[in-house]
Amino acid sequence: DLRKALPAGEFELYYQPVVNLVNNEISGFEALLRWNHPTQGMIAPVTFIPLAEEIGFIVPLGEWVIRQACAAAARWPGDLRVAVNISAVQFRNAGLMQVIVGALANSGLDPTRLEIEITETVLLENKETTLDVLHQLRALGVRIAMDDFGTGYSSLTYLQCFPFDKIKIDRSFVKDIADNTGSLNIVRAVAALANGMGMTATAEGVETREQLDRIT
Ligand code: MN
Repeated sequence: DLRKALPAGEFELYYQPVVNLVNNEISGFEALLRWNHPTQGMIAPVTFIPLAEEIGFIVPLGEWVIRQACAAAARWPGDLRVAVNISAVQFRNAGLMQVIVGALANSGLDPTRLEIEITETVLLENKETTLDVLHQLRALGVRIAMDDFGTGYSSLTYLQCFPFDKIKIDRSFVKDIADNTGSLNIVRAVAALANGMGMTATAEGVETREQLDRIT
């Protein structure tokens, strides 16, 4: 079903807004993948992404996501950015750079409006090759964000091995920020860390007024 879903047009991108709390304006959107299955309805990425990675299908699927996201962002007004999640399996594929360059060229999107989100898993494997690709992307003007920070090993050495533009604080800390001072302190500490390193910090998954008030 997964393999058939791409030509059948069953994948959709949803765009989650990223708000700049300095001026309360939307600075861009993160492209999130959903699978609208003909009989099972909406299937969450957590269900199908690991399988797509296992069977190598993430490569063509990821390429579709990059192309769609760049094409959509090119039609947005002003300098709104689009963020795309790239998995470790995609980084293992030698064609990734060409896919990104091709998507930018075809869409006409300015590279500075594209942001690539990677997790530490990408750096755990093939660190040298990955850093090489990240530096090439950066040279084009593409922004690089460290995703889901604070979960897994989240070694601070990863923050030193590449000058990330942004740290995304994992949503699990934001979720209970209103009633857990531990989470609040973690969010504040990571934001301060990012600030000190000249990076932007984004709190993922803010859904309530109370959560917003806590982080501002
Ligand atoms: Mn992400």
